Amino acid sequence: MDLRAVIDSFQNCSCGRAHSFDLKVYEADRGLVHRVGDILSKSGFPKKIYVVSDENAIHASNGILHALDQCGFHYQTKIYPDMRYAYMSTAKEIMNAAAGFDGILSIGTGSVNDVCRYAAAHAKKAFAIFATAPSMDGFASDSAPLIDNDFKISYPCRQPSVVIADTDILAAAPVELKAAGFGDILGKYVGIVDWKVANYTTGEYYCEKIVALVKKAVADVVAIADKVTVHDPEAAKAIMDSLILTGCAMQLAKCTRPASGAEHVVSHFWEIHKLEKGIWPDFHGKKVGIATLLVTKIYKKLLHYPSIEPHKESLDLEDVLSHYSAKNREEIIGYNVPNPTDAIDPAVLKDRWPDILTSIREDLPDETALLDIMHRAGCVTELQDANLTPEFALEALRYSPYMRRRITLLRILDMLGIDENILTI
Ligand SMILES: [Zn+2]
Ligand SMILES: [Zn+2]
Repeated sequence: MDLRAVIDSFQNCSCGRAHSFDLKVYEADRGLVHRVGDILSKSGFPKKIYVVSDENAIHASNGILHALDQCGFHYQTKIYPDMRYAYMSTAKEIMNAAAGFDGILSIGTGSVNDVCRYAAAHAKKAFAIFATAPSMDGFASDSAPLIDNDFKISYPCRQPSVVIADTDILAAAPVELKAAGFGDILGKYVGIVDWKVANYTTGEYYCEKIVALVKKAVADVVAIADKVTVHDPEAAKAIMDSLILTGCAMQLAKCTRPASGAEHVVSHFWEIHKLEKGIWPDFHGKKVGIATLLVTKIYKKLLHYPSIEPHKESLDLEDVLSHYSAKNREEIIGYNVPNPTDAIDPAVLKDRWPDILTSIREDLPDETALLDIMHRAGCVTELQDANLTPEFALEALRYSPYMRRRITLLRILDMLGIDENILTI
């Protein structure tokens, strides 16, 4: 993908911001595992590197170390057992171990990349990723969601300068992972509505051109939904391209708005509560897919309210806190005091309501269409498939918006003056 062309297309953007990103090289093609050393060398990546992976990923990337040897890289490897969780402690461990090296190469997906991204940014090392599964859109992200004290927080980091993917390896990834990547992309439908809502109601920064980029990335993968479950390098590349583009969109916007809305926060709510109980929280994109379905259902119900009489929110903070662990109390208070909805004038909300309805109508597919897309792509759509109960789903829809300091439509439902049963799923 010609990243230069993407950046160039954003020059003199009408939103008034200068857009850029750090990712210099993104290559995805068949057989690239044997060209990793070559691509890294040509992109000027340092030769003395710390290579981090886990057992699954390094096994899938057979030949990668030989490719580094051939191009004169000096490296030390650290192979973790299957890394299902991205802990802050692991990120710090890598940061210390990489002290004598000039760069970090992360081989894998999800957690491996997240801990390495943090380590590279905070130890000020060059950073590259060899992606082994198109499972989530964090590859080109400039932040790392890490678990610390059972709470997941996104830490600002830096984008990798190089991302390489061998599409034969991506295609051979388990269907569950590819479907998860697809589910993560579907979340953008909700994210766009929420970004517009924040812009309409509080004047938060918004860029139409970035939204157009994200919409195209989503449309491109939806178009190949039927091919997600089959071993098809072209389809795997299409998913990867979209995951990279939505990651870059966050960099262009300098915020996560283009790639995540209420559905990601719902997913994070499930995640922290499961982590606390020591339960595997499941793949990110799998949860995001299901959350997208739930949030879409609720947002579409709002179309039944052509006009509203909004009011200021009266927040029962103790009620909110009772749905979070006591050890996260200070963080939750920090997100809600002062109340972010104070920035919303009910008169403005009333005035912009027709625009919000237009976005719900035009930017979100209806539930039936979404279900069809997800089924074709092999995504799970039932709560029990992600080990969730209806009660837990409802709790997340009601209380998750308070674990971020951000305006989403889900966050301001209480202000709308409409039927309280809107959340019933
Ligand atoms: Zn712009
Ligand atoms: Zn995501």
